[in-house]
Amino acid sequence: PFDVLVVGGGPAGSSAAIYAARKGIRTGIVAERFGGQVMDTLSIENFISVPHTEGPKLAASLEEHVKNYSVDIMNLQKAKQLEKKDLFEVTLENDAVLKAKTVILSTGARWRNVGVPGEEEFKNKGVAYCPHCDGPLFEGKDVAVIGGGNSGIEAAIDLAGIVNHVTVLEFAPELKADSVLQDRVNSLPNVTVITNAQTTEITGDTSVNGISYKDRATEEIHHVALHGVFVQIGLVPNTEWLDESVERNRMGEIVVDKQGATSVKGLFAAGDCTDSAYNQIIISMGSGATASLGAFDYLIRN
Ligand code: FAD
Repeated sequence: PFDVLVVGGGPAGSSAAIYAARKGIRTGIVAERFGGQVMDTLSIENFISVPHTEGPKLAASLEEHVKNYSVDIMNLQKAKQLEKKDLFEVTLENDAVLKAKTVILSTGARWRNVGVPGEEEFKNKGVAYCPHCDGPLFEGKDVAVIGGGNSGIEAAIDLAGIVNHVTVLEFAPELKADSVLQDRVNSLPNVTVITNAQTTEITGDTSVNGISYKDRATEEIHHVALHGVFVQIGLVPNTEWLDESVERNRMGEIVVDKQGATSVKGLFAAGDCTDSAYNQIIISMGSGATASLGAFDYLIRN
Protein backbone atom coordinates (compact mmCIF):
# COMPACT_ATOMS: atom_id res chain seq x y z
CA PRO A 1 0.00 0.00 0.00
CA PHE A 2 0.93 3.65 -0.30
CA ASP A 3 1.88 5.54 2.84
CA VAL A 4 0.32 8.62 1.28
CA LEU A 5 -2.06 8.54 -1.67
CA VAL A 6 -2.92 11.96 -3.09
CA VAL A 7 -6.17 12.21 -5.08
CA GLY A 8 -6.01 15.24 -7.41
CA GLY A 9 -3.09 16.60 -9.42
CA GLY A 10 -3.47 20.39 -9.28
CA PRO A 11 -1.29 22.78 -7.26
CA ALA A 12 -2.52 21.35 -3.92
CA GLY A 13 -1.95 17.72 -4.89
CA SER A 14 1.45 18.37 -6.48
CA SER A 15 2.63 20.17 -3.40
CA ALA A 16 1.29 17.43 -1.10
CA ALA A 17 3.00 14.71 -3.17
CA ILE A 18 6.37 16.48 -3.14
CA TYR A 19 6.25 17.09 0.61
CA ALA A 20 5.37 13.42 1.23
CA ALA A 21 8.02 12.04 -1.14
CA ARG A 22 10.67 14.18 0.52
CA LYS A 23 10.01 12.26 3.74
CA GLY A 24 11.06 9.08 1.92
CA ILE A 25 7.64 7.44 2.25
CA ARG A 26 5.73 5.60 -0.44
CA THR A 27 3.71 8.23 -2.29
CA GLY A 28 1.20 8.03 -5.13
CA ILE A 29 -0.83 10.67 -6.93
CA VAL A 30 -3.89 9.97 -9.01
CA ALA A 31 -5.31 12.74 -11.20
CA GLU A 32 -8.12 12.99 -13.67
CA ARG A 33 -6.11 15.73 -15.40
CA PHE A 34 -2.69 16.69 -14.09
CA GLY A 35 -2.43 20.47 -13.59
CA GLY A 36 -6.09 20.98 -12.69
CA GLN A 37 -7.60 24.44 -13.13
CA VAL A 38 -4.18 25.83 -13.94
CA MET A 39 -4.50 24.14 -17.34
CA ASP A 40 -7.45 26.46 -18.10
CA THR A 41 -5.63 29.63 -17.10
CA LEU A 42 -3.96 31.93 -19.56
CA SER A 43 -1.76 34.36 -17.71
CA ILE A 44 -0.80 34.06 -14.05
CA GLU A 45 0.70 37.13 -12.41
CA ASN A 46 0.09 36.53 -8.71
CA PHE A 47 2.17 33.41 -8.09
CA ILE A 48 4.69 35.17 -5.93
CA SER A 49 8.32 35.17 -7.16
CA VAL A 50 7.14 34.35 -10.70
CA PRO A 51 6.04 37.74 -12.09
CA HIS A 52 4.37 36.22 -15.14
CA THR A 53 3.66 32.73 -16.38
CA GLU A 54 1.00 30.86 -18.29
CA GLY A 55 -1.20 28.06 -17.01
CA PRO A 56 0.02 25.19 -19.19
CA LYS A 57 3.63 26.25 -18.50
CA LEU A 58 3.07 26.23 -14.72
CA ALA A 59 1.27 22.88 -14.99
CA ALA A 60 4.27 21.41 -16.86
CA SER A 61 6.63 22.69 -14.13
CA LEU A 62 4.38 21.18 -11.45
CA GLU A 63 4.58 17.80 -13.15
CA GLU A 64 8.33 18.09 -13.72
CA HIS A 65 8.88 18.94 -10.05
CA VAL A 66 6.79 15.95 -8.91
CA LYS A 67 8.72 13.69 -11.34
CA ASN A 68 12.00 14.68 -9.64
CA TYR A 69 10.88 12.49 -6.75
CA SER A 70 9.90 8.89 -6.47
CA VAL A 71 6.15 9.42 -6.79
CA ASP A 72 3.83 6.98 -8.55
CA ILE A 73 1.92 9.25 -10.97
CA MET A 74 -1.40 7.89 -12.22
CA ASN A 75 -2.65 10.54 -14.66
CA LEU A 76 -6.00 10.46 -16.52
CA GLN A 77 -7.54 8.35 -13.76
CA LYS A 78 -10.66 9.43 -11.91
CA ALA A 79 -11.47 8.27 -8.39
CA LYS A 80 -15.10 7.26 -7.88
CA GLN A 81 -15.20 5.90 -4.34
CA LEU A 82 -13.39 6.19 -1.02
CA GLU A 83 -13.72 3.65 1.79
CA LYS A 84 -11.92 3.16 5.07
CA LYS A 85 -11.30 -0.47 6.02
CA ASP A 86 -7.98 -1.52 7.63
CA LEU A 87 -6.49 0.75 5.03
CA PHE A 88 -8.08 3.40 2.85
CA GLU A 89 -9.33 2.05 -0.46
CA VAL A 90 -9.76 4.38 -3.40
CA THR A 91 -11.64 2.89 -6.34
CA LEU A 92 -11.01 4.36 -9.79
CA GLU A 93 -13.48 4.61 -12.70
CA ASN A 94 -11.73 1.60 -14.27
CA ASP A 95 -12.47 -0.36 -11.05
CA ALA A 96 -8.82 -0.57 -9.99
CA VAL A 97 -8.49 -0.25 -6.20
CA LEU A 98 -5.61 1.69 -4.64
CA LYS A 99 -4.76 1.06 -0.97
CA ALA A 100 -3.14 3.56 1.34
CA LYS A 101 -2.44 4.26 5.02
CA THR A 102 -3.33 7.92 4.55
CA VAL A 103 -5.12 9.78 1.78
CA ILE A 104 -4.93 13.46 0.87
CA LEU A 105 -7.93 14.70 -1.10
CA SER A 106 -7.10 17.59 -3.44
CA THR A 107 -9.73 17.31 -6.15
CA GLY A 108 -10.21 21.07 -6.50
CA ALA A 109 -13.26 22.85 -7.76
CA ARG A 110 -14.87 24.19 -10.90
CA TRP A 111 -16.53 27.53 -11.62
CA ARG A 112 -20.22 27.29 -12.32
CA ASN A 113 -20.81 28.29 -15.94
CA VAL A 114 -23.72 30.50 -17.06
CA GLY A 115 -24.13 28.31 -20.12
CA VAL A 116 -24.97 31.03 -22.66
CA PRO A 117 -23.64 31.32 -26.22
CA GLY A 118 -20.18 32.95 -26.25
CA GLU A 119 -19.11 31.79 -22.77
CA GLU A 120 -17.13 28.77 -23.96
CA GLU A 121 -15.91 30.49 -27.13
CA PHE A 122 -14.49 33.54 -25.31
CA LYS A 123 -13.04 31.84 -22.21
CA ASN A 124 -9.69 33.56 -21.60
CA LYS A 125 -10.63 36.00 -24.41
CA GLY A 126 -12.62 38.31 -22.19
CA VAL A 127 -14.69 35.78 -20.24
CA ALA A 128 -13.09 35.42 -16.81
CA TYR A 129 -13.94 33.84 -13.48
CA CYS A 130 -11.38 35.19 -11.02
CA PRO A 131 -11.23 38.93 -10.32
CA HIS A 132 -8.07 38.57 -8.16
CA CYS A 133 -6.38 36.88 -11.11
CA ASP A 134 -7.70 38.63 -14.18
CA GLY A 135 -9.01 42.01 -12.95
CA PRO A 136 -5.80 43.90 -13.86
CA LEU A 137 -6.05 42.64 -17.47
CA PHE A 138 -9.09 44.93 -17.88
CA GLU A 139 -7.55 48.12 -16.48
CA GLY A 140 -9.40 51.17 -17.80
CA LYS A 141 -11.96 49.07 -19.71
CA ASP A 142 -15.67 48.33 -19.25
CA VAL A 143 -16.69 44.96 -17.83
CA ALA A 144 -19.75 43.10 -16.58
CA VAL A 145 -20.15 40.86 -13.56
CA ILE A 146 -22.77 38.13 -13.80
CA GLY A 147 -24.15 37.35 -10.35
CA GLY A 148 -25.30 39.56 -7.48
CA GLY A 149 -24.44 37.29 -4.57
CA ASN A 150 -21.51 37.96 -2.22
CA SER A 151 -18.87 36.85 -4.71
CA GLY A 152 -20.40 38.90 -7.54
CA ILE A 153 -20.68 42.08 -5.48
CA GLU A 154 -17.19 41.61 -3.97
CA ALA A 155 -15.93 41.20 -7.54
CA ALA A 156 -17.74 44.37 -8.66
CA ILE A 157 -16.25 46.40 -5.76
CA ASP A 158 -12.79 44.98 -6.45
CA LEU A 159 -13.03 45.62 -10.22
CA ALA A 160 -14.45 49.15 -9.79
CA GLY A 161 -11.04 50.22 -8.48
CA ILE A 162 -9.24 48.95 -11.59
CA VAL A 163 -11.57 49.14 -14.60
CA ASN A 164 -13.49 52.08 -16.10
CA HIS A 165 -17.01 50.80 -15.47
CA VAL A 166 -18.73 47.71 -14.10
CA THR A 167 -22.24 46.50 -14.97
CA VAL A 168 -23.62 43.92 -12.55
CA LEU A 169 -26.32 41.60 -13.90
CA GLU A 170 -28.45 39.77 -11.33
CA PHE A 171 -31.12 37.30 -12.42
CA ALA A 172 -33.36 37.75 -9.36
CA PRO A 173 -35.37 40.93 -8.61
CA GLU A 174 -32.93 41.76 -5.76
CA LEU A 175 -29.25 41.35 -5.00
CA LYS A 176 -28.46 38.49 -2.65
CA ALA A 177 -25.22 39.91 -1.27
CA ASP A 178 -24.86 41.03 2.37
CA SER A 179 -26.26 44.51 2.92
CA VAL A 180 -22.85 46.05 3.78
CA LEU A 181 -21.61 44.92 0.38
CA GLN A 182 -24.75 46.25 -1.31
CA ASP A 183 -24.32 49.64 0.40
CA ARG A 184 -20.71 49.78 -0.67
CA VAL A 185 -21.44 48.86 -4.29
CA ASN A 186 -24.31 51.34 -4.49
CA SER A 187 -21.96 54.11 -3.33
CA LEU A 188 -19.57 53.55 -6.25
CA PRO A 189 -20.05 55.97 -9.16
CA ASN A 190 -18.71 53.57 -11.81
CA VAL A 191 -20.90 50.55 -11.02
CA THR A 192 -24.39 50.01 -12.48
CA VAL A 193 -26.50 47.25 -10.95
CA ILE A 194 -29.24 45.72 -13.11
CA THR A 195 -31.58 43.25 -11.43
CA ASN A 196 -34.13 40.95 -13.05
CA ALA A 197 -31.61 40.53 -15.84
CA GLN A 198 -31.15 37.20 -17.55
CA THR A 199 -27.90 37.00 -19.50
CA THR A 200 -28.67 35.63 -22.95
CA GLU A 201 -25.38 35.91 -24.83
CA ILE A 202 -21.76 37.03 -24.58
CA THR A 203 -20.87 38.63 -27.91
CA GLY A 204 -17.50 39.14 -29.55
CA ASP A 205 -15.29 38.82 -32.60
CA THR A 206 -11.77 37.72 -31.67
CA SER A 207 -12.52 38.62 -28.03
CA VAL A 208 -15.52 39.81 -26.02
CA ASN A 209 -17.21 43.01 -27.26
CA GLY A 210 -20.45 42.95 -25.29
CA ILE A 211 -23.17 41.18 -23.37
CA SER A 212 -26.89 40.75 -24.07
CA TYR A 213 -29.51 40.31 -21.37
CA LYS A 214 -33.25 40.03 -21.17
CA ASP A 215 -35.15 42.30 -18.80
CA ARG A 216 -37.32 39.64 -17.18
CA ALA A 217 -40.08 42.17 -16.39
CA THR A 218 -40.52 43.53 -19.92
CA GLU A 219 -38.97 40.61 -21.90
CA GLU A 220 -36.93 43.21 -23.78
CA ILE A 221 -33.39 42.30 -24.89
CA HIS A 222 -30.63 44.82 -24.18
CA HIS A 223 -27.00 44.86 -25.28
CA VAL A 224 -24.09 46.51 -23.43
CA ALA A 225 -20.75 47.09 -25.21
CA LEU A 226 -17.78 46.05 -23.02
CA HIS A 227 -14.52 44.10 -23.03
CA GLY A 228 -14.78 41.64 -20.19
CA VAL A 229 -17.33 39.45 -18.43
CA PHE A 230 -16.70 38.01 -14.97
CA VAL A 231 -18.92 35.02 -14.21
CA GLN A 232 -19.55 34.92 -10.44
CA ILE A 233 -22.30 32.42 -9.84
CA GLY A 234 -20.45 30.03 -7.61
CA LEU A 235 -17.55 27.64 -7.28
CA VAL A 236 -18.46 23.97 -7.01
CA PRO A 237 -16.04 21.61 -5.20
CA ASN A 238 -15.28 18.30 -6.94
CA THR A 239 -16.40 16.26 -3.96
CA GLU A 240 -19.70 14.68 -5.10
CA TRP A 241 -17.99 11.27 -5.36
CA LEU A 242 -17.22 11.25 -1.63
CA ASP A 243 -20.88 10.87 -0.58
CA GLU A 244 -21.03 10.48 3.19
CA SER A 245 -17.45 9.19 3.58
CA VAL A 246 -16.21 12.48 5.07
CA GLU A 247 -17.75 15.60 6.60
CA ARG A 248 -18.54 18.32 4.07
CA ASN A 249 -20.21 21.70 4.62
CA ARG A 250 -23.41 23.02 3.02
CA MET A 251 -21.47 23.99 -0.11
CA GLY A 252 -20.00 20.48 -0.39
CA GLU A 253 -16.54 21.61 0.71
CA ILE A 254 -14.51 19.17 2.84
CA VAL A 255 -14.17 20.49 6.38
CA VAL A 256 -10.52 20.57 7.52
CA ASP A 257 -8.64 21.70 10.61
CA LYS A 258 -5.37 23.60 10.69
CA GLN A 259 -3.34 20.44 9.97
CA GLY A 260 -5.52 19.71 6.95
CA ALA A 261 -7.14 16.79 8.81
CA THR A 262 -10.76 15.85 8.00
CA SER A 263 -13.45 14.20 10.11
CA VAL A 264 -11.87 10.78 9.35
CA LYS A 265 -8.58 9.80 11.03
CA GLY A 266 -5.78 9.49 8.47
CA LEU A 267 -7.78 11.33 5.82
CA PHE A 268 -6.53 14.81 4.92
CA ALA A 269 -7.60 17.40 2.36
CA ALA A 270 -6.16 20.52 0.73
CA GLY A 271 -6.89 23.24 -1.79
CA ASP A 272 -10.11 24.33 -3.46
CA CYS A 273 -12.04 21.17 -2.47
CA THR A 274 -11.86 22.24 1.20
CA ASP A 275 -13.57 24.95 3.24
CA SER A 276 -10.52 27.22 2.94
CA ALA A 277 -11.40 30.92 2.91
CA TYR A 278 -9.85 31.74 -0.47
CA ASN A 279 -9.02 29.78 -3.60
CA GLN A 280 -5.73 30.62 -5.23
CA ILE A 281 -2.70 28.70 -6.53
CA ILE A 282 -0.38 29.91 -3.80
CA ILE A 283 -2.95 29.11 -1.11
CA SER A 284 -3.61 25.60 -2.49
CA MET A 285 0.09 24.84 -2.56
CA GLY A 286 0.44 25.96 1.05
CA SER A 287 -2.48 23.85 2.17
CA GLY A 288 -1.13 20.85 0.20
CA ALA A 289 2.14 21.14 2.12
CA THR A 290 0.21 21.44 5.39
CA ALA A 291 -1.93 18.36 4.70
CA SER A 292 1.15 16.36 3.74
CA LEU A 293 3.00 17.27 6.93
CA GLY A 294 -0.20 16.48 8.82
CA ALA A 295 -0.36 13.05 7.17
CA PHE A 296 3.31 12.39 7.97
CA ASP A 297 2.72 13.34 11.59
CA TYR A 298 -0.23 10.94 11.68
CA LEU A 299 1.88 8.11 10.17
CA ILE A 300 4.66 8.42 12.73
CA ARG A 301 2.15 8.31 15.58
CA ASN A 302 0.10 5.37 14.33
P1 FAD B 1 -7.47 22.08 -9.01
O1 FAD B 1 -6.50 22.97 -9.70
O2 FAD B 1 -8.90 22.21 -9.34
O3 FAD B 1 -6.98 20.58 -9.27
C1 FAD B 1 -7.81 19.49 -8.95
C2 FAD B 1 -7.18 18.20 -9.44
O4 FAD B 1 -7.99 17.10 -9.02
C3 FAD B 1 -7.07 18.07 -10.95
O5 FAD B 1 -5.90 17.34 -11.26
C4 FAD B 1 -8.33 17.28 -11.30
O6 FAD B 1 -8.22 16.61 -12.55
C5 FAD B 1 -8.32 16.31 -10.16
N1 FAD B 1 -9.59 15.62 -9.86
C6 FAD B 1 -10.83 16.14 -9.66
N2 FAD B 1 -11.72 15.18 -9.35
C7 FAD B 1 -11.02 14.01 -9.34
C8 FAD B 1 -11.35 12.65 -9.08
N3 FAD B 1 -12.59 12.27 -8.74
N4 FAD B 1 -10.37 11.72 -9.18
C9 FAD B 1 -9.09 12.07 -9.50
N5 FAD B 1 -8.72 13.33 -9.75
C10 FAD B 1 -9.66 14.30 -9.67
N6 FAD B 1 -5.33 31.25 -9.07
C11 FAD B 1 -4.28 32.08 -8.92
O7 FAD B 1 -3.64 32.05 -7.88
N7 FAD B 1 -3.91 32.92 -9.92
C12 FAD B 1 -4.54 32.99 -11.12
O8 FAD B 1 -4.17 33.79 -12.00
C13 FAD B 1 -5.66 32.12 -11.32
N8 FAD B 1 -6.38 32.16 -12.46
C14 FAD B 1 -7.40 31.28 -12.64
C15 FAD B 1 -8.06 31.28 -13.86
C16 FAD B 1 -9.05 30.37 -14.12
C17 FAD B 1 -9.73 30.36 -15.48
C18 FAD B 1 -9.42 29.43 -13.11
C19 FAD B 1 -10.48 28.41 -13.40
C20 FAD B 1 -8.79 29.46 -11.88
C21 FAD B 1 -7.78 30.38 -11.62
N9 FAD B 1 -7.12 30.43 -10.40
C22 FAD B 1 -6.03 31.25 -10.25
C23 FAD B 1 -7.49 29.56 -9.28
C24 FAD B 1 -6.53 28.37 -9.16
O9 FAD B 1 -6.37 27.77 -10.43
C25 FAD B 1 -7.04 27.37 -8.13
O10 FAD B 1 -7.21 27.99 -6.89
C26 FAD B 1 -6.07 26.20 -7.95
O11 FAD B 1 -5.81 25.56 -9.19
C27 FAD B 1 -6.63 25.18 -6.97
O12 FAD B 1 -5.77 24.10 -6.88
P2 FAD B 1 -6.26 22.67 -6.40
O13 FAD B 1 -5.06 21.79 -6.54
O14 FAD B 1 -6.91 22.79 -5.10
O15 FAD B 1 -7.40 22.24 -7.42
